[in-house]
Amino acid sequence: MPAPFVPKKVEDIIYYYYAKLVIAPSAGLQRNYGFIIDTYKRLKSGDIEMSHYDREIQRVAETPNECAFCGSRARKCQPVHVVPKSLGIPPGMHNLVIACEDCAKSKQDKDLIYWWCEELGKPRDEVPRVPLGLYLKIAYEMNKVNFSLKKKCNGLAEVFRHING
Ligand SMILES: [Zn+2]
Repeated sequence: MPAPFVPKKVEDIIYYYYAKLVIAPSAGLQRNYGFIIDTYKRLKSGDIEMSHYDREIQRVAETPNECAFCGSRARKCQPVHVVPKSLGIPPGMHNLVIACEDCAKSKQDKDLIYWWCEELGKPRDEVPRVPLGLYLKIAYEMNKVNFSLKKKCNGLAEVFRHING
C-alpha cells in the first residue's frame, strides 16, 4: 500500500481495495493513486456504493469452463467457496466461483487472501478480480450486520477478523 494513506478500520480496507478493483480494468489507470483515493473517499462518504454481486455473477455464468483463479480452461471445473463456509455465510450471498481441479483442491475452504498470498506466495495486488470482488462485498455485508465496519483492521488479510463463524 502506498505510503501517505494508511487505512486502519475494516471499512477503510474494504473501500480501498474495492476502489483499486474498480479502477484497475481501465488501461493505464492501475497506478493512478489519486484516482483510487478519490474513489475510496466517494465510497466512504456514501457518494457512490459498492455495486452488488451482479457483475461477478454474470462473469461466472459467462465463463463456465474458466478457472476464476488461474484462468485456465479446464474440462473438469467445480464450484469453490470464496469465503470459508465455516464463517457462516448466510444463504443468498453469492460466495461461489468456478475453479479448475487443481485450484479447487488447493484452495478448499481456506481464506482467499491467506491461500493466495501465504500458500501460493503470490502478490496481494494480483488476487483475481472476480473472487476478490465477491470477497470484499461479502466482507462488507458481514461486517455491517456484525457492527464491526468501524473496528480496527490492519490489512486485507484481516477483514474477517471480527467475524466469528
Ligand atoms: Zn485454476
